[in-house]
Amino acid sequence: MRTTVGRFAPSPTGPLHFGSLVAALGSFLDARAQGGRWLVRIEDVDEARTQPGAADAILATLEACGLAWDGRVEFQSRRTARYNAALERLVAAHQAYPCGCSRSEIAAAADAAGIGSAPDGARIYPGTCRHGLAPGRSARAMRVHTNNVPVEFTDRLQGRIVQSLERGVGDFVLLRADGFFAYQLAVVVDDAEQGVTDIVRGTDLIDSTARQIHLQRLLGLPEPRYLHLPVATNSRGEKLSKQTGAAPADARALAPALAFLGHAPPASLAGAPAAELLAWGIAHWDIARLPRARTSAVSSPAG
Ligand code: GLU
Repeated sequence: MRTTVGRFAPSPTGPLHFGSLVAALGSFLDARAQGGRWLVRIEDVDEARTQPGAADAILATLEACGLAWDGRVEFQSRRTARYNAALERLVAAHQAYPCGCSRSEIAAAADAAGIGSAPDGARIYPGTCRHGLAPGRSARAMRVHTNNVPVEFTDRLQGRIVQSLERGVGDFVLLRADGFFAYQLAVVVDDAEQGVTDIVRGTDLIDSTARQIHLQRLLGLPEPRYLHLPVATNSRGEKLSKQTGAAPADARALAPALAFLGHAPPASLAGAPAAELLAWGIAHWDIARLPRARTSAVSSPAG
C-alpha cells in the first residue's frame, strides 16, 4: 500500500511568517489526514541567502505550533554531493551542458532573437551555448536541455497545468555561476530520495513545477502529486515575506492559518491548545474546502 509522505521545505532566509506557516500547516494536515509521514527539510542550498539562526527559529516555531515532523531534519547544504551526482548523470546523458553567458549577454541575445521574458520577468534563455561553448569562452553555469513537448500535470487544487519549457523558460540553470546548485535540481533530488509522494506548497512555486517534472523524467525519478495552496498577501497584494515586512508567526497564528485554508475551527475551540486545533484540522481536512485563488490577502494574520 502506498504511504503518503509530505514535506515542508522552507528556505532559512528569515523567521517563519504567516505565509510560510500556511504552507507548513497545509502540507502537515494533508499528510496526517492520509495517515502519512511529514518531513521537514531546510532548503539552504542558496547559502548566500541563508540567514544565521533562521533555521533554528523556523524549527522552534514549528514545534511551538505542534507541527511535529517525522525523522531527522535534512539540510540541503550538506547534500551537495547528491546534486553533483545528478548533474553528472545529466551531463553523461547529454541533457546538461556548460553555459558561458552573463545576464546581459542573455538579454542581448534574446532581444536580437525577438525572445521575450517569462511571466516572472526572467529572461528566456535563447540557447546560445546549447551546442557547445564558443571558442575562448569558459563555463559559468550548467543548464539542462528543454524542449517544447508540453509538460502537463493535474494539480489537486488548481487543476490541469500545461507548460512548454523551451518556449516559456528556456534551458534553465542547474548549477549557478556562483557555484551553488539551483533550487530546481536540489528539490527534485531531495524529494525523490526522501520518498515524498505529496508536495503541498504555495502557488508562488506552481510555475517551477513543470521544470521539476522535466528533471524527474530525465533522471527517471518518481513523480509526486502536487497541491498548490493560495499564497498569503498583505493588503497591497504583496506576498508576505521578510522583504515585505511580515511579522514572525507563533502558535496564536494557527487558528487564523486554519481559517485562511478554509478550515476555520469551531467557536468551541477558541483559545484551544495547538494540539487540539491540529487534531480538529486533521479530522476535518477536505481539499474541497480550500480556497482556489492563487493569492489571498490577510489583514491581521496573527489574529
Ligand atoms: N524552499 C522553497 C521556499 O521556501 C520551497 C520549496 C518547495 O516547497 O518546493 O520557497
